[in-house]
Order: sequence, then structure tokens, then C-alpha cells
Amino acid sequence: MRAFAISEGGNPELSELDLPTPTPEGTEVLLRVTRSGVCHTDTHLRAGYYDLGRRGHMKLTDRGIPYPLVMGHEVVGVVEAAGPGASGVEIGSTRLVYPWIGCGECAACLGGRENACARGRNIGVARPGGYADHVVVPHPRYLVDIEGLDPSWAATMACSGLTAYSAANKVLPLPTEAPVVVIGVGGVGLTAVATLSALGHKAICAVDMSEANLAAATDLGASLTVTADSEDLSRKVLAAIGGPVDAVIDFVNNDQTASAAFDILVKGGRMVQVGLFGGEVTIPTALLALKMITIEGSFVGTPAELEEVVDLAKQARIPRIPVIDADLDLAGVTSSLDRLTAGGVTGRIVLKGAEQ
Ligand SMILES: [Zn+2]
Ligand SMILES: [Zn+2]
Repeated sequence: MRAFAISEGGNPELSELDLPTPTPEGTEVLLRVTRSGVCHTDTHLRAGYYDLGRRGHMKLTDRGIPYPLVMGHEVVGVVEAAGPGASGVEIGSTRLVYPWIGCGECAACLGGRENACARGRNIGVARPGGYADHVVVPHPRYLVDIEGLDPSWAATMACSGLTAYSAANKVLPLPTEAPVVVIGVGGVGLTAVATLSALGHKAICAVDMSEANLAAATDLGASLTVTADSEDLSRKVLAAIGGPVDAVIDFVNNDQTASAAFDILVKGGRMVQVGLFGGEVTIPTALLALKMITIEGSFVGTPAELEEVVDLAKQARIPRIPVIDADLDLAGVTSSLDRLTAGGVTGRIVLKGAEQ
């Protein structure tokens, strides 16, 4: 099988590997990849580090990320083979993969929060992912039925959709007219706007540098938009809304946006920080206490939340985000990552595997 891999962090060049197609063992399931979404996280994996502000760079090699690395964690595929211990798997069925694989034994995993496992081995990050003709999933419980859904859109639910849904869940319930600000409405933020709207929320303010992204956010349920430019972001958002806000979901989460998120909250407000753009934030600690602010980090979501996202989609309660097609080959993977690195992509790029 073909696999498209980065050889080391910091080297943007991807290479095409010719690997033996794996034979599933134990509870493993082998899928032929038909769709593979391209996530902004992959641009960080390609760069090889996260920016920790004054603490420097956190190198992914220090976190046990193995290179060469076959990325791709938004995968839809057709089940081709299953190990002897994998029960209830229908050969030939199309399935979405839950990629945030935990150890299965710790308190987080047993509590249904595999994404919070300290020993997680995520597909497309710590084990080979969907930028390849085939992918191995360790157990059938990570496969989600997406019958009736467009597979390209369904692929985006494994990370983009799930991340958006889980972040939206963290700020709700709120009165429907309580202002919620969504900072950064590219692929994931756009889905968050759509999800909040689907869950009945009315006052959604989208913030982005791109007018195209803001127009898309309006189409998907944003009631107000603010263009992020050189002006003081917190002042601009407060002026647009007419006062402080109950919650912020920050899909950028850099020095400027996190600082603005803190500054625009009401007493008892909540900031949910999702983005991995990096940096750090300095906040007045007295205000943190006096205003009783909750700061919460959010990383993807649980297996149950992925089922909930897919159910919402099946009921047509969340609108399809814009999907940009590309081919699942070396040129397709490389150019998609380049486009995400450059920024300004509205919606999600999804690679299409060869039809058979
Ligand atoms: Zn992702
Ligand atoms: Zn675990």
C-alpha cells in the first residue's frame, strides 16, 4: 500500500512509502481509506513542535511521536479484513474511525474519556493514520456507522466536528440569548457555530480575520460577526456586542486571542481554549478570582460525543460544512498541508481515496 509520510519534524517534505498492507491481528480491523480529512494539527506535526511562548518549543519527538509519521486522523474507510478477536464487524461496510485511542485500562478510558488518557496512542499521530491506502484500527469499538451521510463530511466529524461539539458542550447550557463568542471560524470554528446553532443557541458572535470565513459563519448561524484586525480585539468585540459575554470558545488560542477572551467575560464567565497556535497569556490573578472566571482546555472529544455528532448529522440538525476535495496522493497531501499552513481555507479539505 502507499503511505504518505513526513520523515522528521521540521522537514516539510513528504515522501511516498511503499509498505506491505497490514494483516489485522487480535481485535484489529483493516480499512481501505476512502476519505481522509486534513487538519490544522497536521501542520504542527509537520513543523515538529508546539509553541509554548517563553517556555520555548515543545518538540513532538520528546512526546514520543514516532517518525516517519503517516498522519491523517479524520478517516472514513471500507472494512476489508478483521482479526480473529474483532467481532461484529461487517466486511465491506463503510465506517468512520474514532482516532483518539486510549490505553483502555486507566480511569479516564474506563470512564469513557479515552481522549484524556495519559497513554493515548492516537491514529495519525502516534500510530499510522489515513494519509495512506489502508489504516489499522485496534478494536471495532472505534468504528462509527455513518449510513446515509456524505462520507467526505462524515470524515471531518472525527476531529473537526468532534472538537467543535465537545467545546460547544462545555459552554452550554446557557440561556439562548446569552452571548457566546467563537474566535477563529475556519474549519473547526465554523462547525462550532453550526453546532451551537443546532443545539438551539441564538446569540453567537463569530470573530475571524477572513471576511469569507465570517460570511460562512453567518450562513451557519452566527448572529453577529467581528473582523479581527490590528485594532484592540477585546474592545472591538465588547463594542459590537454591547457588553461582556458569558462564554468564549477560542479556536486560535494565541497570545492575543486568549488575552481578549479573558477580558470580555462576564462575572462567572467561561473561556474554553481549543486552538494550538501557541503562545501564552498573562492575566491579572486578582481579576481571575474576583470575576470567578473558569478557564478550560478542550482537546477533541469522547467516543460518546462522536456518536452524538454523527446522530445530529443523521437528523440533519447540523449543516454540512464546506468541503474542498483533493486527491489522496503525494501531491494532494502536500498541497493541502501547504494551504492550511498559509491560512484562509474556508471549510475543510478532504482527500479522496481511489474508488474501487
Ligand atoms: Zn484534527
Ligand atoms: Zn487510558
